[in-house]
Amino acid sequence: MPERLFVCTPSKLGTYADCPRRYRYAYVDRPSPPKGPPWAHNSVGASVHTALRNWYALPSDRRAVAELPMLLKATWVGEGFRDTEQERAAYRRALGWVESYVTGLDPSDEPLGIERVVATKTSVLAFNGRADRIDARPGPSGPEAVIVDYKTGRFEPTADDARGSQALALYAYAAQRTFRRPCHRVELHHLPSGTVAAHEHTEESLSRQMSRAEDTARDIMTAEKAVAAGADPDAEFPVRPGTLCSWCDFRRNCPAGTDRPAKEPWAAMG
Ligand code: SF4
Repeated sequence: MPERLFVCTPSKLGTYADCPRRYRYAYVDRPSPPKGPPWAHNSVGASVHTALRNWYALPSDRRAVAELPMLLKATWVGEGFRDTEQERAAYRRALGWVESYVTGLDPSDEPLGIERVVATKTSVLAFNGRADRIDARPGPSGPEAVIVDYKTGRFEPTADDARGSQALALYAYAAQRTFRRPCHRVELHHLPSGTVAAHEHTEESLSRQMSRAEDTARDIMTAEKAVAAGADPDAEFPVRPGTLCSWCDFRRNCPAGTDRPAKEPWAAMG
């Protein structure tokens, strides 16, 4: 029997790379341990992503900055904030970000995809992921696809972040196969600062990232098989305590997380 392919998304692979125990809580243990309360910064991120998606869903002659207050309000996620005042301030800040971001866009541009799923298979894994946006741009030898990822966090990403992001590389790898055109450029669009951090991949660097993803997939499958055969799940999916624990949804249920300082759900609001 051929080995089953490991079905994965960037967030599944990223979760294991961050902490195998967190991966187990999120994807292996059933029922999954209860998560902590929702985070305000996730609410802001989700709201901004949805507003931009819905802005592109408008006919191009209606894609105006003036549409944004209504779009952002209609799908605003109000979870995790300390109080109404903080939530209102976050809404106003987010509206400012999307307004200035959209001012720099050409409303007549039709991206290849908005929140579009791209997928590909190798001999080890079946990858699928939803890219925020995939642009069509002219390249030196014809049309190319460009991966665009929106960022709303406090830290301004750098070109190194774009180069090192496994998720972006895997989207590019899969987009080449989905759209049958080259896709080497990946971009992090940081809305709070209005900056773009970009990297041009090569075929080699994309393949290298895919090989790394396959290595992670093999590690996960080995651990899952060992647990199914009776091995100790705590040993197969070890904890990896660090600064991430304070932001981990499973901190309350994890032996390594309970002694880490807790963050309030709105801690990243500044
Ligand atoms: S609290 Fe820390 S060690 Fe525990 S699962 Fe979360 S990230 Fe891993």
